[in-house]
Amino acid sequence: MGRLIDQYIRNAEEREWAYKIDALAAGFAERAAAHDLQGSFPHENFAELQAAGYLKLTVPKEFGGDEASLHELVGLQERLAYGDGSTALAVGWHIGQVLHLRTTRKWPEQQFEKLCQAIVQEGAMINTLASEAGSGSPSRGGKPETAAIREDGGYRITGRKTFSTLSPILDRFVVTAYIPEEETVADFLVYKNEQVSIAETWDTLGMRGTGSHDVILDNVFTAEENRLTGKGTDDGGGWLLHIPACYLGIALAARDFVIHYAKTYRPNHLQGPLAELPAIQQSIGQMEAELRVARSLLYEAADRWDAEADNRPNLRPELGLAKYIATNHAIKVVDIAMRIVGGASLSRKLPLERYYRDVRAGLHNPPMDNMVLQTLASEALKEQ
Ligand SMILES: Cc1cc2nc3c(=O)[nH]c(=O)nc-3n(C[C@H](O)[C@H](O)[C@H](O)COP(=O)(O)OP(=O)(O)OC[C@H]3O[C@@H](n4cnc5c(N)ncnc54)[C@H](O)[C@@H]3O)c2cc1C
Repeated sequence: MGRLIDQYIRNAEEREWAYKIDALAAGFAERAAAHDLQGSFPHENFAELQAAGYLKLTVPKEFGGDEASLHELVGLQERLAYGDGSTALAVGWHIGQVLHLRTTRKWPEQQFEKLCQAIVQEGAMINTLASEAGSGSPSRGGKPETAAIREDGGYRITGRKTFSTLSPILDRFVVTAYIPEEETVADFLVYKNEQVSIAETWDTLGMRGTGSHDVILDNVFTAEENRLTGKGTDDGGGWLLHIPACYLGIALAARDFVIHYAKTYRPNHLQGPLAELPAIQQSIGQMEAELRVARSLLYEAADRWDAEADNRPNLRPELGLAKYIATNHAIKVVDIAMRIVGGASLSRKLPLERYYRDVRAGLHNPPMDNMVLQTLASEALKEQ
């Protein structure tokens, strides 16, 4: 019988990619506990992802990439997270944003082509640093305190960004900044130089290997052409499905771990292993229900986004729902897995306590639960 994680593989090409990523993820899993303990950034995982061609997964074919679909991205991100949630979430921002740039063409074409070439040739990565301590989640529309002041040929940017995932490895990134003289907010591409520093503040409950430190911009210059104008085509934000894919990957790892545990662990007062107990089978059934519902919504949303190019902005409620269900069900699956294992699940010797901490971070990635519910409510109330 096939594995649950393989359920949405559609063809030989996807299977080949999946097995390639499984091999990488198995190595990441071996290193995950150490990086989690130390809160260190897994540079070696990213070197392996680059060597495997993963960093160019979503780059358009015309610029030398694989031009993966959203369905393909989601499938591979689940598998990476199965090995290490932190690495998956971190690389997910990169490949997700490249997919977003590919479909929206929101950057000037030359800038996008230059980025793609740097990804393909040098393994460059990209992320957007938009969160700040004073303005909260950018998805709620807070005005950045980071400011961009115009000068000859470009802008000087000063500010401090929080939650800057991938900061230890990025040589360039996008920041949101307020331009006082225009009373507007814009995105700027910034190349790392001596005016950019990292404050190693990332010491969190979970997702400790994402390198999401604070990035401090001290009057850093960026050229006029690095002001990224326009929003391009509205793509509904489908690329954000890399987030639920990540948390479901963690839940799948917890599910597989506990099924193996239940089939092999027999306390000496029982005749057979835990898996033979009806109560344990009920719990396993609950995990399956949570996972299968969440994954069917996730892949359905990804498939619709891939197929309905002209309808993408209208898919926002479905995309948000997929994220809401996936992250909450993933939390529940890990919780059930720990209840099945019992007290041993608290030990750092088993991976479950890390899954439990990592999966919790999904609540604080966009779109947040209250925003999804608000969107669904607005849709309902608009109906005639
Ligand atoms: C692992 C991880 C990686 C991340 N990586 C990145 C990254 O690479 N780049 C990046 O820019 N950001 C990143 N983020 C940050 C993320 O996108 C959010 O900015 C961050 O989690 C803070 O969001 P918040 O909703 O808690 O903050 P806030 O907006 O400050 O909200 C604080 C609290 O107030 C409530 N609240 C705020 N406004 C309202 C309102 N209008 N109505 C009702 N309730 C409200 C919220 O529900 C929340 O409970 C990352 C976060 C995590 C956890």
